[in-house]
Amino acid sequence: MAEKLINIRKVSDIFPEYMDTPISRLLEYHNLERPFESHTQAELLIGMCMDNRNHLRIPGHFAFIIRAGGANLRYSEFKVSFAISVGGVKHIALIGHSNCGMVNLSSRRDQFVDGLVKNAGWEVEKAEEHFLNYAPLFEIGNEIDFILSETLRMRDRYPAVLIAPMLYRVEDHRLYLIRE
Ligand SMILES: [Zn+2]
Repeated sequence: MAEKLINIRKVSDIFPEYMDTPISRLLEYHNLERPFESHTQAELLIGMCMDNRNHLRIPGHFAFIIRAGGANLRYSEFKVSFAISVGGVKHIALIGHSNCGMVNLSSRRDQFVDGLVKNAGWEVEKAEEHFLNYAPLFEIGNEIDFILSETLRMRDRYPAVLIAPMLYRVEDHRLYLIRE
């Protein structure tokens, strides 16, 4: 799995198809400490997980960001369409991350139910039903394969948009391109 990850340590590590696009600018801002430029409008849509360990170094106004468990945009399609149509973005970075809580979600059932009961004041039965109804929609197999399959799905849906699959490693807080 790890051999699919390309660490971006210098500009020439970025795949040629992404050079001089908002995709390469994202990688340069985050990994290579490119000085922030002033952006007057969004150039990029970023889809990433809600996980609090993911933090991007990017300038203001540069990107729309949709955060959802597992960077799963299947239930955010209207927002994606809005960013493209009204927001005018032609590039999307899909960023999964290591150690994502949406992997092996079914193993967290008891923790989820107990937590809703304790922290939100739910009845056990209602919490169990909630988990059973929604966990299958959000569970992912593994982070890299999920992002690659999402990339294909999104390219099919938005064929004129350039979509780049990436992984954020929470171990070193760097972005990696995923080799397809
Ligand atoms: Zn996650």
